[in-house]
Amino acid sequence: MGVRKPLIAGNWKMYGRRAALSEIAALHAQVGHVSGAIDALICPPFPYIAAAAETARGGSVLVGAEDCSPVAEDSARTGEVSAAMLADVGARYVIVGHSERRSNHGESNDLVRRKAEAALAAGLTPIVCVGETQAEREAGRVAEIVGGQVRDSVPAGGAFVVAYEPVWAIGGNSTPTIPEIADVHRLIRETLQTKFGDKANRTRILYGGSVGPKNAAEIFSAGGVDGALVGRASLKASDFAAIILAHPAAV
Ligand code: PEP
Repeated sequence: MGVRKPLIAGNWKMYGRRAALSEIAALHAQVGHVSGAIDALICPPFPYIAAAAETARGGSVLVGAEDCSPVAEDSARTGEVSAAMLADVGARYVIVGHSERRSNHGESNDLVRRKAEAALAAGLTPIVCVGETQAEREAGRVAEIVGGQVRDSVPAGGAFVVAYEPVWAIGGNSTPTIPEIADVHRLIRETLQTKFGDKANRTRILYGGSVGPKNAAEIFSAGGVDGALVGRASLKASDFAAIILAHPAAV
């Protein structure tokens, strides 16, 4: 294994019911044999995290959450879920700053960073999402936007993951080209290097946006891609397993 163990994470968003938890057991059956080489993670909606962690217990699939509060302490925060609560029910990772949170809930880089820091304080690994919109890409602003998000959204210390998710590639059918993905991953790692020095070489940078069984192998071949953040294709164990098994580390 290289210096960075690949991570392939599934974001279930607001999909699934209790019955969907059987996909976690099915996933373990299909990818358990590569768990030494690749981390497989499922992030279900809040109500199912505890049951998902129970289902996953003793197996190869890790469980995480899709969001957390920026406030670490137990406090009067109606409707919020703290990172400590997520850790308490078995989550190991938490996605922060997904573009749907940034656009639907107006989450700023500062808020995303505070969420990531709350996650670290609770012993979770934050997956910090960054990515440009179509208009920003067309205006030639990818480096400015993604560089700025990385600088301002990642936590000051601790181990975290960055997910590069071009907003225009999420939930559709198109992705950047392989050289374009590699370019942005290089930019992200250089930005992390400037901020953190050598730690940047140990930080996993995932690609997300329309990854599926058909394009996963090609996307994993892009330079600097340490795995994927997957939406739709993580809902069915057979699709998600096909993505995981397409990673070169799976052979
Ligand atoms: C996502 O929402 O993080 C995502 C990558 O979605 P999809 O894989 O469905 O494009």
